[in-house]
Order: sequence, then C-alpha cells, then structure tokens
Amino acid sequence: MDNAATTKVFDEAAQRAIKAMTDGYGNPESRHGFGFEAQKDLTEARKILAQAMGVTDEEIYFTPSATTSINTAIRGAVASKRGGRIISTAFEHPAVEEVLKDLEKTFEVVRLKPVEGKITVDSFRQALSPDTVLVTCMQVNNETGAITPLKEMATLLKRSGIDAPFHSDAVQGFLKEDFRYSMLDMASFAAHKVHGPKGVGALYLRKGLRIKPTLLGGGQEKNLFSGTHNVPAVAGWGVACRMMIDRKEETLQKVRQINEKMRKGLSELGAVINSPNDASAYVLNAAFPGYLGENILNYLSGREIYISTGSACSAKKPSRVMTAIGKEDLSRFALRFSFSGENRIEEVPVVLQAVADALREIATVR
Ligand code: PLP
Repeated sequence: MDNAATTKVFDEAAQRAIKAMTDGYGNPESRHGFGFEAQKDLTEARKILAQAMGVTDEEIYFTPSATTSINTAIRGAVASKRGGRIISTAFEHPAVEEVLKDLEKTFEVVRLKPVEGKITVDSFRQALSPDTVLVTCMQVNNETGAITPLKEMATLLKRSGIDAPFHSDAVQGFLKEDFRYSMLDMASFAAHKVHGPKGVGALYLRKGLRIKPTLLGGGQEKNLFSGTHNVPAVAGWGVACRMMIDRKEETLQKVRQINEKMRKGLSELGAVINSPNDASAYVLNAAFPGYLGENILNYLSGREIYISTGSACSAKKPSRVMTAIGKEDLSRFALRFSFSGENRIEEVPVVLQAVADALREIATVR
C-alpha cells in the first residue's frame, strides 16, 4: 500500500523492456536498420502515451525522470525572463519546490495555500497578476491525494489574456484522473508510478511553445533532452500504459472500494483522515494522534505491509504538505496508504488488523 512511491512493473512491460535490451538494442540515433528498429520502439510508445495524455505525438519528449522533466519545464520556461511572478502551490513535491526556491532569487514566487486541504480557483484568481510569467501547480498531491482544479484554472488563465505558460506536475494524476493535458502548456510524468520501469519520464510541451534546454549534448528529443534514450524503459512504459488504459475503469472501481474500506476501518480505529473527501482514490492520508507514524510504519513493515509516513523522498523531514494544509501538529502521526490495481480487497482486513495490533503494542508520545 505504498503505490504513490512506486508501482510494480507489469510483467508484460518488463518482458517488452527485456526484448528491447536483448533483441533490438540499437541506438535510435543510428542511421542504419538496427537503429531504425529502436527508433520504431520510441515512436510506438510515444503514440500510446500521446493518446493517453490527450496530446499529439510530437508534443511528447522522453526524459530520464519526472524530476528532469519538471526542472527543464520550469527553468526553461523562464530562462529568458528577468523577473516577474511565478504562481505555484504551497504543497508541491520537492522536484518543483526546490527549483522554485532557487528561482526566488530572480522571481516573485506566490504559493497558493490550500483551503480545507485543496487549492481553490478563487485563490488562483487573486494571485494572477499581469507580470505572471509561469504557473506550475501539481495535478494530484502525492501525500493527501488532493486534486487541483487544473481545468478551471487553465481556463481562467487563458481568459485573463496573461501570457504565461501553465505547467503541471502530473506524476500522481496521469492514468488515474480523467484529464486532457492539451488544456495546459506543459506537464511532467513518470513511468514508474504507473506500472512502467524506473528511469524514464516525459514532458508534454505544447506545439509552438519554446523553452530553453537545461541539458546540452547530442541533441536527442529535438535538442531538449540530450542523452541516449532509455529505449527499453520507454518501450516497457508504452506497454504498461496500454494495459492501464484497458483496465482503467475496472482498476478505479477496485481502488475506490479499497479506499472506502480503509477510510472506514481506520476511522473506526480512531484515525483522523487528512485526505479531502473528494481526493484521488489512489491516496489516503490518516493520522493516529499520539502514535508516531514512523513507529506504525516500522511495525507494519515487520509484517511485510508497506506504507509511508509522507512522500518517500522526504520521509526523514517534517512534511511540508501537512504544514500547508494546516495540520502541522499531526505531521508526526501521519500515515499514507496509496493503492493500485495490484492491491486486493482482501488485503484491507489484514492491514486494518495489523494497524489495530500496532496501536495496542506501540507506546504513545505526547
Ligand atoms: N512529483 C510527484 C508528485 C511525485 O510523487 C514524484 C515522486 O515521488 C515526483 C514528482 C518525482 O518523480 P521522480 O523521482 O520519478 O523523478
């Protein structure tokens, strides 16, 4: 139940990656038949991903990770600007937040504060100013599952006439929420959160929008992401994506059921639920005041039940997300359960029993 950290690579996707490593291991930049075969793998995966994102093939750029995609999108979009306002949220993933902190030397960064755990269109309306040069707001929060009203915000930005690209960290929303990314100007994705291999991500960049590359080199991906492609990972992602699309409704139904049962069961055990009621079904954040999240995590880990206390990347620091949603006092007690189609409903009572046992056996703190 830690699928927001990463997911199991589908067997078929792994097999496809192996095939690309052993049979068709050419360099897609090579000007011979073997290279063309590898290039075909990229083309095929690009097509599948573009369709799933609701954008065109030529608007997709493969990257080594979501982090690389995010860094290039944000830095590249403002590289030619000398100042102005960047609008974001107060609970972005470090892949966005750390870049913003760095840019704060030159730009004014306005971080929208969540209201009852969620970003509101109203706060965005108030933050918009004529000197806004970039908007970057995450689609689904990785710690609470809160969904940002991107559609309404993007519409508002367009109507305002302000010439600022809208980027979104879509890592936790892609293939889980219904959304056409062509509504936006840029979006960032990671394969390993949706049953693809690690080591590959993507940037959607609207046709006609030019950004400055942050990596210089061989000029792959139309000069935006130089470096030899990770063809096996890309090919595997294509297969995983097709499978996710085929199973989308069935997976969502199952994950919703799991989430509801977990929400109810945890509440009955005395948990405070930190996720908004209308959050993504894939993430559920709860806290047992008095019981350190870390202690419950370790107890469950001893039973081979894996959850998280916050995001895997910042597990050792106090959660900025909990602070942003006004629940700093609960930060030490927070637990994140995150689901995928690989979970089974039958796992729910087992996990709830283990949590109940943990509450009985673990010492409380003030
Ligand atoms: N953004 C969000 C919301 C995430 O959850 C993650 C990963 O945890 C990232 C960005 C960064 O992804 P990666 O580490 O694969 O680059």
